[in-house]
Amino acid sequence: MPRALVTGISGQDGSYLAELLVDKGYDVHGTMRPELLARPELMPRFLQTLREKVTLHGLKLDQTERLATLVCELACDECFHLAGPSAVDSEFLGDPALFRLTVSSTKALLAAIESSGRSCRCFVAGSSEMFGRAVSSPQDEQTPFHPRSLYGLSRLAAYHIVRQFRRRTGGFACTGILYNHESPRRGRTFLPRKVSLAVARIKTGGQTRLSVGNLDAVRDWGYAPDYVEAMWLMLQQADANDYVIATGTTHRVGDLIDLAFQAVSLDSRNHVDIDPRFFRPTEVVPLCGNPERIERATGWRPRKSFRSMIGEMVAHDLAEQSAPQSRSPD
Ligand code: GDP
Repeated sequence: MPRALVTGISGQDGSYLAELLVDKGYDVHGTMRPELLARPELMPRFLQTLREKVTLHGLKLDQTERLATLVCELACDECFHLAGPSAVDSEFLGDPALFRLTVSSTKALLAAIESSGRSCRCFVAGSSEMFGRAVSSPQDEQTPFHPRSLYGLSRLAAYHIVRQFRRRTGGFACTGILYNHESPRRGRTFLPRKVSLAVARIKTGGQTRLSVGNLDAVRDWGYAPDYVEAMWLMLQQADANDYVIATGTTHRVGDLIDLAFQAVSLDSRNHVDIDPRFFRPTEVVPLCGNPERIERATGWRPRKSFRSMIGEMVAHDLAEQSAPQSRSPD
């Protein structure tokens, strides 16, 4: 039975990936924040279900020595490094501590794999934010990186650490350059989840209005369960390569909102306010990924349509609203 370690198993991507690996017959281990591990009653429902099927380890991302020890003790076949801060804003000035966390945890993980002497394959999560102020669209693996946030810069640093590890040791490590990907498990501050939650509350009478920023901003939005499959496929190839993981299609914020309201037979025009507080500078060149290379190499295809993903998110939040006593604290 192959063994895999997933850092950040309690998050959107970590939990979907763990479920995929369990289904494929892996012995799955995962790290998560010790505070959450100690309070199962605070875990979202999907994590309460998942914890019966995997082995959880409480570990903070700055505990790099413990991470290294865990990697050596487990002697995993595959490792997915998904833990870390996610993009919160597009300010270049972010918290340098978060930058250090991403870099030091990636370095520690790869150093532990190297010193273990085992051929553990490693996936590291990158981000479209690495392209930042992109020079062209769609972006692919050859497009120059111009990160405009400390978050994007931290992912770019990790990407270079992975490449250097690969060149120096010949080991199997790769970065997936992930474009925005959503699901009912997405954090509540990201636009699609903010919208699906608001639509569910408006439909059930819990609120009347939704305030958002720029309706004309566009994103290449994919479906998280599709993207974790791409991560797994990347580790099943003969050679380690870095790939863009994207749909290749962009949608407007305004269109996403319209679809979400349509899913509950409401008209967005009656419920949406534009609030300058949520405006962010719009990209001159849209962030849109070209997934051709990963499609050709692995056969991966994004399966879920944008409309169906938004429908699923709204339906999930509507069900949670209708049963408030069992609402998960994710
Ligand atoms: P990210 O900015 O790509 O990390 O992901 P978000 O989901 O936070 O934002 C996606 C897009 O929606 C960005 O282009 C935002 O500028 C735009 N947007 C418009 N209104 C809002 C809003 O009210 N909240 C958020 N989070 N994003 C918004």
